[in-house]
Amino acid sequence: MSVAETETPLLPIHIVPDPVLRKVARAVTPADMEEVRGLIPAMFATMYAAPGIGLAAPQVGRLLRLVVIDLAPEKVLEPIVLINPEIIAASDETASREEGCLSLPEQYAEVTRPARVAVRYLDETGVKKEIEGEGLMAACLQHEIDHLNGVLFVDYLSALKRNMLLRKLAKEQKDKAARK
Ligand code: ZN
Repeated sequence: MSVAETETPLLPIHIVPDPVLRKVARAVTPADMEEVRGLIPAMFATMYAAPGIGLAAPQVGRLLRLVVIDLAPEKVLEPIVLINPEIIAASDETASREEGCLSLPEQYAEVTRPARVAVRYLDETGVKKEIEGEGLMAACLQHEIDHLNGVLFVDYLSALKRNMLLRKLAKEQKDKAARK
């Protein structure tokens, strides 16, 4: 059974300026694992439905250090669960790419980050693992881990660009609410 086929109710995605997105999430402990195992399929279902390629627990209002990612290369699902992820190495070389975020719907901007990172984490069974990413995976890993620290991709933009984007988002969300 693939995670995409489970009939899991979708979780509401918190949108900027929801303050939960600016809080630091706490580490997952063994006592949290039961909740985390329930949260994982719900987070994947929510991410696939959005659609998105990464989702961090604070985006669904849970302040736990938990991230799900699936870049779905060639449309084949490759779900990755990262519990308590930590960037243990980052390249000096940087790369720029356009990023978006399910918590800032329809907003995109070029973000510059280290081109390659290595991340240590626990998988959903609690086994310690490491992943190395470059390209889209490197950006996605950094973007999602940022969420656990209350950091959003707009924080990397100039104040001028950030404010333009946030004003555009606020206006679009207001228009959307008015249409409901
Ligand atoms: Zn995001």
